[in-house]
Amino acid sequence: MSTSLPIALLNSLEGLNGFDKEAFVAVHEKQEAITSVRLNPAKQSMDNGQWSINDVIHHSPFIIHEKIPWCSNGYYLPERPSFTLDPLFHAGTYYVQEASSMFLEEAIRQTVDVSKPLKVLDLCAAPGGKSTLLQSIISPDSLLVSNEVIQSRASVLRENIIKWGAANVVVTNNDPKDFQQLQGFFDVIVVDAPCSGSGLFRRDEEAIAEWSENNVQLCSQRQQRILADVLPALKEDGVLIYSTCSFSVDEDEKIIDWLINDCHLSSVNCQLKEEWGIVESNGGYRFWPDKIKGEGFFIACLKKKEGVEFSYPRMRAFNKATKQEAEVLSKYLDNPQRFEFLPLTDNLFAVPVELVQDVRLLKSLLRIRYAGIEMGVINKNELIPEHALALSVHINQSLPAVQLNKEQALQYLRKQDNLQLELNGLKGWCLMQYEKVNLGWAKLLPNRINNYYPKEWRILK
Ligand code: SAM
Repeated sequence: MSTSLPIALLNSLEGLNGFDKEAFVAVHEKQEAITSVRLNPAKQSMDNGQWSINDVIHHSPFIIHEKIPWCSNGYYLPERPSFTLDPLFHAGTYYVQEASSMFLEEAIRQTVDVSKPLKVLDLCAAPGGKSTLLQSIISPDSLLVSNEVIQSRASVLRENIIKWGAANVVVTNNDPKDFQQLQGFFDVIVVDAPCSGSGLFRRDEEAIAEWSENNVQLCSQRQQRILADVLPALKEDGVLIYSTCSFSVDEDEKIIDWLINDCHLSSVNCQLKEEWGIVESNGGYRFWPDKIKGEGFFIACLKKKEGVEFSYPRMRAFNKATKQEAEVLSKYLDNPQRFEFLPLTDNLFAVPVELVQDVRLLKSLLRIRYAGIEMGVINKNELIPEHALALSVHINQSLPAVQLNKEQALQYLRKQDNLQLELNGLKGWCLMQYEKVNLGWAKLLPNRINNYYPKEWRILK
């Protein structure tokens, strides 16, 4: 590492549980790049009606050689392949995520009963690593609200949520204090807070130059503000998971002290296996990069001792799709009876029946960027399908589809129009698939193929 670690940071870590200055500096100098991915359990290629997780391992350009011990679908890769040139990456069959942060799965499983229908808020969610992980853990009748305050980052979050293909996620673009309208609503709130970023120094040398004690203080104050703003939305006995990728005590242990002493939360312990190398520190858990295979990370679980009970306000009657529209849309889903069709924008959306009331409520209070499955618009009794429908795990598996080889798949993902495909008599709206996984739509016309891959998502290189 050409830029050396800030002395003030090193000094501030002295005496912390597990801090070994020599090993810490050495691991930063080693410049080891660790790459890890998390597979989407709901979205592996389909054979004989069965999703198989092995398919993505087999077909992707990477060889998965080591499991991440604290995450059921997390794997280390021996090297970093070009994810951009892997069609399965664009199809949402896996997410590239730093290994330490996947500990969120263990933290949730140890503190929350995930077999129950839960309302979960991921407050600082873009680009979507923790949200896609949370979605894979919670039950299908649970609701995940995935929020990002910065508008441009909320667009990236929306894209990644659509690629993940689940129906039980609502993407919002709100300030933390907007959630005060939902007092006592959530069973779980995850705050993966904006921080000074020292945990990622190995990946981002520029961050070292930008680091300062002053910025740590500013981050710490902002973290308290964010937490104070959102805590009213957590219900009594609800679980707060707080995490950062900073090593600084002011952003980690001191925030936990403040949550316990000033906000009346209590710390909840996780059981750790010794071989994981994770270190307990003031009720939180530290990931030192010289002790684990991953980057610097801090996470803590807390419980809210008391809170108000949420009651649904009276809501205005809400428009639904007409019976005729619902009939058209039903043909596009595997279990249409599980959904209600709502015109949330000019487009129609499929929302799981058990989440309709919550989606209506959230729509009336927050800036919703996405919800359920965006189906499309109906014109003359025919659906003009949305890209999100193609990527949904709930799409009807028997819709017409064309299999693309890798080169054709990349042409499709670059939004090229001159695709040369074997059409076998197919015409009209058709799914483009790679390894039997949907990439998006094309419209097959007598003399040409129109590529409907979203322009803003296309591969540029
Ligand atoms: N959880 C994300 C993931 O796993 O992909 C990473 C989140 S990142 C550490 C922190 C996020 O907080 C950023 O997306 C940032 O835009 C957002 N943020 C910045 N300032 C914020 C604020 N004042 N309130 C809430 N979120 C904020």
